Amino acid sequence: MKKGFKIMIGATAKGTLEDGTVIEGMIVDFDYPEKGTVSILRHNEDEPVLINRAKCAVIERGYLEGQRVPKGYKRSVPGYFRKETYGGGVICPECGCGNTKRTTPELCTRCNVMEVPDPVKNYTRRVPGHVEIECCGRMLVCSGFTTTCPYCERDYNWNGTLLAPRRFWGEETGEVF
Ligand SMILES: [Zn+2]
Ligand SMILES: [Zn+2]
Repeated sequence: MKKGFKIMIGATAKGTLEDGTVIEGMIVDFDYPEKGTVSILRHNEDEPVLINRAKCAVIERGYLEGQRVPKGYKRSVPGYFRKETYGGGVICPECGCGNTKRTTPELCTRCNVMEVPDPVKNYTRRVPGHVEIECCGRMLVCSGFTTTCPYCERDYNWNGTLLAPRRFWGEETGEVF
């Protein structure tokens, strides 16, 4: 096992669950939704698993956008589902101003209407996947239709494939005089 790699998003890590099961996957988050935890996304899974940070070891480093990466670096980061919550506390039924730190309703300072309890709502958000490539020795995240390298201004598609230079885009096919 390679040592000295920091826990960071994109790194590959091995961790032990409460029941002793060892899992391996990519770190997609940490300290979320609980402090001291690492969210590991297993290969071919949709939802990350929460692991105690102390029970997690990084086996392959990850890179942040703009960091130096080896020549030819390319990696596909899968999308995943992230469970999130919103609401909680109290909310004004008139203007929608909420306060998540207080559960006792008060008069809304804006509308003078009594606030109502705002139950915690759960929802699942899909975090889209992306492709990471190396350009100019740095890590470039390709997401969306095109991504431009900030150093050489070459364009890549969503899949990290180099596109023709912009001067050839929509090129006319007429005769040259
Ligand atoms: Zn209000
Ligand atoms: Zn470049």
